[in-house]
Amino acid sequence: MSKIIVLMGAPGAGKGTQARLLQERLNLPQISTGDIFRGLKDSQTSLAKEVREIMTQGQLVPDELTTQLVRERTGRDDCRNGYILDGFPRTPTQALSLETLAAEQEKEIVPVLIDLPADTLEKRMTGRRNCPVCGEIYNVYFKPPRFDNVCDVHADTQLIHRADDNPETVRARLVTFELQTRPLMEYYNQRNLLRIVDGARDPELIYRDIEAIVGA
Ligand code: AMP
Repeated sequence: MSKIIVLMGAPGAGKGTQARLLQERLNLPQISTGDIFRGLKDSQTSLAKEVREIMTQGQLVPDELTTQLVRERTGRDDCRNGYILDGFPRTPTQALSLETLAAEQEKEIVPVLIDLPADTLEKRMTGRRNCPVCGEIYNVYFKPPRFDNVCDVHADTQLIHRADDNPETVRARLVTFELQTRPLMEYYNQRNLLRIVDGARDPELIYRDIEAIVGA
């Protein structure tokens, strides 16, 4: 049965970095609900404005909308042999929807928690920078680009600092995680499904653990 690799963890734990590696190396699509919502940044519809406001406040987009987006995206042909979810599910309701979806798609859910101490997370997020061309993720503290604020590969491209990676929103996002997403870990743990990897290491080492878990 093909797999739905669910990368879980607090914001800043490294889900995006691992999702990118898995996508490249396992040739499976990576679906990041955060990226989908950020893709609405130039849209002027009232829905897009509402989503932006929710993101700025570090809160969660309503379950129904989020689930609908995931259902639509994962129904596409490229997801046939499995896919990687980065940032979904984030609430127990979303987890239940994912179960329905997995049953319909005849796929197995493999939840992997990237675990990291809370005191590291804030710096991971406030230091984070992305290349808008290739999506490469840098960090001014932990993984600086070779030259200040430009991508190593796309040297003429300034890196982007996510709007919701400012200290105030970061704190709100961490609270949201503890209140709304942490219970999910318990849910998967009780069913003996949750696999945990230590996120305070080199991304390559973390990747190796995840690769072993998903049996690639
Ligand atoms: P991320 O890039 O995963 O940190 O997501 C950025 C923001 O998008 C979050 O802080 C939420 O506002 C929103 N978001 C992403 N994924 C979800 C989700 N599964 N459910 C609700 N909101 C989400």
